[in-house]
Amino acid sequence: MNENKLAIVTGGSRGIGKAIATKLASAGYNIVINYAGNTEAANQTIEEIKKFNVTAEAYKFDVSNQAEVEENIAKIIEKYGRIDVLVNNAGITRDDLFIRMTEDKWSAVINTNLNSAFYVTKPVVKLMMKQRFGSIVNTTSVVGVYGNVGQANYSAAKAGLIGFTKSLAKELGARNIRVNAVAPGFIATDMTKDLANIDEYLKLISLKRLGTADDVAQAVKFLAVDSDYITGQVLEVDGGMII
Ligand code: NAP
Repeated sequence: MNENKLAIVTGGSRGIGKAIATKLASAGYNIVINYAGNTEAANQTIEEIKKFNVTAEAYKFDVSNQAEVEENIAKIIEKYGRIDVLVNNAGITRDDLFIRMTEDKWSAVINTNLNSAFYVTKPVVKLMMKQRFGSIVNTTSVVGVYGNVGQANYSAAKAGLIGFTKSLAKELGARNIRVNAVAPGFIATDMTKDLANIDEYLKLISLKRLGTADDVAQAVKFLAVDSDYITGQVLEVDGGMII
């Protein structure tokens, strides 16, 4: 059992983040989730997580706002005194063809999906370095590895997260801090519910179905807490879409 161990999952109130938080709770981790605005979904998730007999709390803050992040992470550290696992998962899409992409769409995605990892990870790593242990998993995407039409902003942010993952793994390994990334393919969540051409994507996926949030959570739990000698890796969870 991990009675006192704490995992933080950003964007943990819905979709993939909710599944990750639930999976880590099922392994005995106390849970802090973060979310942006949907308090009803966050409260519902907290109630579900508590069924695993762990503590669970939701913190509402915008991961793209450094001041808000620092204030809230400081509160979490003061309250719990340790952070064993950090999952940088919060993310958004603002898709458009590059030729039509506005600076607003570019910046919203870079700030929320990439700069957020800098803001959240910085204070967490300071604590993990003192603890001399910790495990970080960043949620990137197959789009960050291979690119995608209409997602120049998103693929740039997700590719940035991969570089961030590998560099931190090299910097922090000597302190017993592992840093990995999970790269989901097409996962059935609110983010993908309006996707056109699902049938076209299914033709490309070897397993002939979209992934579930739980499929990704399994991989995150493996990287975060079931492995000891894996760091700097990007695990693609895409049903064999790209082999
Ligand atoms: P989702 O269902 O739209 O959930 C997004 C979560 O992020 C929610 O909890 C949301 O909080 C939170 N969030 C969004 N912006 C935030 C902000 N500025 N500050 C704090 N929290 C914020 O998305 P998902 O499909 O689960 O995606 C989760 C992660 O997986 C993302 O990084 C996404 O890029 C990545 N991913 C998804 C897929 C896919 O096919 N779904 C594929 C590859 C990678 P609220 O509920 O308050 O809005």
